Amino acid sequence: MEICRKDKCVGCGVCEFICNSSAITMNKDPLTGFVYPIVDESKCKKCNKCVSKCPINNVESMVSNNILDCYAVVSKDSNIRQTSTSGGLAYCLQEKTILSGGVVFSVVSNYPNEIAVFQRIDRLEKINNTQGSKYVQANVRIIYDQIIHELRKQKKVLVIGTPCQISAIKTITKGINTNLTTVELVCHGVSSSKILMDYISEIKIKNDVHDIKFRDYNRTCLALLGSDQNLLYKKYVHDDLFTLAYLKSIILRQSCYHCKFGKYNRYVADLTIGDFWGLGEDSIFRDSYKKGVSLLLIHSERGLQLIESLDNICMEKRAINEAIQGNRTFNDDYLKPPYQRNNFIKYYSLSHNVHRAIQKSIFLSILYFRLRGIIKRIIRK
Ligand SMILES: Cc1cc2nc3c(=O)[nH]c(=O)nc-3n(C[C@H](O)[C@H](O)[C@H](O)COP(=O)(O)OP(=O)(O)OC[C@H]3O[C@@H](n4cnc5c(N)ncnc54)[C@H](O)[C@@H]3O)c2cc1C
Ligand code: SF4
Ligand code: SF4
Ligand code: SF4
Repeated sequence: MEICRKDKCVGCGVCEFICNSSAITMNKDPLTGFVYPIVDESKCKKCNKCVSKCPINNVESMVSNNILDCYAVVSKDSNIRQTSTSGGLAYCLQEKTILSGGVVFSVVSNYPNEIAVFQRIDRLEKINNTQGSKYVQANVRIIYDQIIHELRKQKKVLVIGTPCQISAIKTITKGINTNLTTVELVCHGVSSSKILMDYISEIKIKNDVHDIKFRDYNRTCLALLGSDQNLLYKKYVHDDLFTLAYLKSIILRQSCYHCKFGKYNRYVADLTIGDFWGLGEDSIFRDSYKKGVSLLLIHSERGLQLIESLDNICMEKRAINEAIQGNRTFNDDYLKPPYQRNNFIKYYSLSHNVHRAIQKSIFLSILYFRLRGIIKRIIRK
């Protein structure tokens, strides 16, 4: 039995969560590590609940094109801004929710156990762990029970995640969501922890890796840190094969190529946050642009209330078109995976070596960026 089309399944586990017969288990694909549901037909009562509740089968009724306002935002605290991916808005939203007695569910990295996993954040000192984008799929299934528990206690709950994760949260909290506010990230797509772990294990590093960072000074990179946060490995986008392959979209989950969420007129959450690429020259944040500026789209009164309650941000109203046109991800039409994605899967299954599979799949791009780097270095001399 197929709950939704496998290439569209986002691995949210809502089906597993709502099946009263415990007939569904989420299984990892042995090669890529992405999880998919498997139905035990001997336990299945054919009630069809999993099919009818699957967010992917209900995507059209979940998305809306409502945008009340658009802002460029930065945290007033320069330290928070520097340690966040964009302008630090996610930190400020979490801080406000906790200070007003609520709880947050947000993604942390607890390497080497999991590179990205949702966690309950109920103290200010825990927010630091959530900072920074992790470009692999986070396990969202483990927080469903906790969110329902908090909402039943009438606690204010804030959830920050990818749009498909927010659609799952909204599905499982239907009818009890009065105190729930949701924030979706502008989302290029996710790779898997398994692919990244394999990649890291292939890099010859003497010391044990204790932490990972994906962004530095507003540039995409892969940095591996030791036990004292000492730097063991760092390469920027065009020199690091994993990062390049992620941005070239050859190592994403299959559903990301068919994603019907988070496009310029399809939102599920109360708020959307991302990078404010394409910010106009007249913006008050233009001088400090390189330090990161958050894009904020407000979709609902609930989202607006939370934003109005913030006293730790500077914000500037901007035209919606500027934000949408400047951010490729809103406009990307992932109808087909690039052909190099199929090549990556083919080479990865043959060699079980991520470096080799990426090198063979995007050989020309790697060559182009290497030559460009060499020419830049020569010109600088
Ligand atoms: C996989 C992914 C793809 C993205 N693609 C784009 C893009 O194409 N264009 C764009 O403008 N912005 C994109 N973003 C969003 C952007 O990178 C920042 O996360 C966002 O602007 C928030 O930055 P910040 O400075 O407010 O907060 P930060 O401190 O950077 O906060 C990060 C927040 O993101 C959440 N988060 C981190 N990793 C994950 C994950 N793997 N899954 C779910 N939630 C996570 C954390 O819970 C935290 O709340 C992406 C983010 C992710 C995680
Ligand atoms: S998208 Fe979610 S609910 Fe639908 S089949 Fe996949 S894991 Fe199950
Ligand atoms: S049809 Fe009903 S019993 Fe069968 S797997 Fe789906 S939810 Fe479970
Ligand atoms: S691109 Fe779409 S399917 Fe992929 S993680 Fe983002 S929201 Fe989910």
